[in-house]
Amino acid sequence: MNNYDVVVIGAGPGGYISAIRCAQLGFSTACVDNGMGVDNKPALGGTCLNTGCIPSKALLDSSHHYAFISKQAADHGINVSGVKLDIHKMINRKNRIVQKLTRGIAGLFKKNKVDWLQGQGTLLGNDKVKVTPAGEEAGEEYTVSARHIIIATGSIPARFSFAAVDQNRIVDSTGALVFKEVPKRLGVIGAGVIGLELGSVWSRMGSKVTILEALDDFLAPVDRQIAAASEKLLARQGLDIRLGARVTGTGVNSREVGVSFEQGGSKQQLNFDKLIVAVGRSPNIAGLGAEEAGLELNENGSIKVDEYCATNLPNVHAIGDVVRGPMLAHKAAEEGVMVAERLAGQKSEINLDLVPWVIYTWPEIAWVGKTEAELEEAGVSFRAGVFPFAASGRALAAGDSDGMVKILSDADTDQVLGVHVLGPNASELVAEAVLAMEFDGTSEDIARTIHAHPTLAEAMHEAALANDGRALHI
Ligand code: FAD
Ligand code: AMP
Repeated sequence: MNNYDVVVIGAGPGGYISAIRCAQLGFSTACVDNGMGVDNKPALGGTCLNTGCIPSKALLDSSHHYAFISKQAADHGINVSGVKLDIHKMINRKNRIVQKLTRGIAGLFKKNKVDWLQGQGTLLGNDKVKVTPAGEEAGEEYTVSARHIIIATGSIPARFSFAAVDQNRIVDSTGALVFKEVPKRLGVIGAGVIGLELGSVWSRMGSKVTILEALDDFLAPVDRQIAAASEKLLARQGLDIRLGARVTGTGVNSREVGVSFEQGGSKQQLNFDKLIVAVGRSPNIAGLGAEEAGLELNENGSIKVDEYCATNLPNVHAIGDVVRGPMLAHKAAEEGVMVAERLAGQKSEINLDLVPWVIYTWPEIAWVGKTEAELEEAGVSFRAGVFPFAASGRALAAGDSDGMVKILSDADTDQVLGVHVLGPNASELVAEAVLAMEFDGTSEDIARTIHAHPTLAEAMHEAALANDGRALHI
């Protein structure tokens, strides 16, 4: 039996980052993973690299270029004719990017001397892991021992009893990344982060997309002003978003999929060529042997941990999507680094209140900290500064001037409490806000910081000025 200082179970962004950091800190480290790549062979990287963040962004970017060429290029004085989609090539490009990155992690494991143990990891108490190899060349199962175990088994698409995923007519997010042709009529259940991203991809490529969302509010966790503006822009792009529409059943035949839903007290039905089920994700503890090992779980099936990701079992930590908190790759990765460093005796911590969120629609939505509604509910008095991209020279030059930056700060101390961006490259712009908030910065700090001209980031500067009623360009 091999003995390791640390055995990590799961090689998504939580697990692989944690394993590399453990190895950097001098621990002998192994990472057990049962993930399969786009070629159906073992691949590192988890959901994020294989079926999540990266492939979805590759298709978002490809579809964005197509939409630009088809709809906006003429505005720039560029007339293009004979534009044709080659879905096969687009999907292959996405697969190549995924493989380059997943193989890159294998290279990083080699460089850092992390042992990649292919197969399913099952806890045997708090100091042993059984590895059951999978795939074509699967060998015998074996056991490794560990002074510390880090569980990073991630999450899987939430299942919905009325819409059985067959990855043909009814698909989950994984199936929606490999369509062989553009569906003419595409239904999406759930107007959350994943439903909106994948709905946008296929809408830009020509699908007539209808999104059915049970809640009455569009993007309930998002700042109301930003959500309302985004809803209008997405409707303008042709997304048919039906709020208060609770799906109750589906029926598949050889030609289409029928979806029954209730809206405003009436029962309705729509037919689609494909249906994406995007109703959230569930923590993944399948095959982990969590209960047998005595691991305490939360009501939703996630592993119970404290602020430092320690479980109830001594020497066992859990990180990423399989524990509480936002199911985001960067949150998983930072938890992985924190646990590794604490095992090495460092005092690392992370602030879950300052995890940035991004929704990759176009314009993108990104935010950090509190919304206006949350501050009102908490009885905090605050000031808001809003600057529209319509007044940004750089945004106008790019032909991308929808949206705004909004900075909320404490009315007494001016400390930044929340920053909300709807606009081009919002995912990049929000980083400045996260940094300002990490340093307990004020909106005055952002207002006094010199921003290059002409840039989209100037909108952040102007929103900070607007927070004090002294914006210069509105
Ligand atoms: P995962 O990435 O899920 O990895 C877990 C790994 O553990 C997998 O390889 C799994 O096979 C393996 N495993 C599970 N059980 C066992 C076991 N018993 N033994 C061995 N191995 C096991 N997040 C963002 O931050 N930005 C985005 O843009 C973004 N886009 C997304 C788009 C889509 C379509 C989807 C589905 C998700 C997206 N996410 C995004 C979410 C992101 O993918 C997850 O938050 C992230 O992957 C979680 O990382 P993790 O390490 O916790 O788990
Ligand atoms: P997210 O958790 O961000 O992936 O979003 C999932 C979305 O699916 C949420 O907004 C839910 O309200 C929505 N949802 C869940 N069940 C249903 C249903 N039966 N019909 C329509 N929408 C649903």
